[in-house]
Amino acid sequence: MREIVSFWCQDCGLDQDLEAYPFANKWEARCKGCGRSLWRLRKEIENDPYYRKSEKLRIQRKMMKKDLLQPGESGFKTLYPETVRQLEQAEENFEKKQKEDRERRDRLYKKYHHDINRREVLKKAINNAELWT
Ligand SMILES: [Zn+2]
Repeated sequence: MREIVSFWCQDCGLDQDLEAYPFANKWEARCKGCGRSLWRLRKEIENDPYYRKSEKLRIQRKMMKKDLLQPGESGFKTLYPETVRQLEQAEENFEKKQKEDRERRDRLYKKYHHDINRREVLKKAINNAELWT
């Protein structure tokens, strides 16, 4: 039985809804752009590359994510605005600190890495500070 199925053609970069034919565990159809044979898995959606490759789905996912991040859009944010603000602040601070630590470490290492005595001391100090990864 034929069905309308969404396909993505990698060659054309084209999302398209096509009349598809079931064949074994797949849906098959021909690309409107290049005529190439396209397929989708009918059951194992976790192995269907369409979900990873389709531009349309990628954009939809992005928009859903963006919506959730908008003030008032997500239930959590509406109910706990202060908590959300704190979480965001904490994450921002953490990222900032990590970046600063990394930069400081790189600066120190660059400065002293040619000096073997200092280098060992430095490495130890950095290890102790758990900044050396
Ligand atoms: Zn094509």
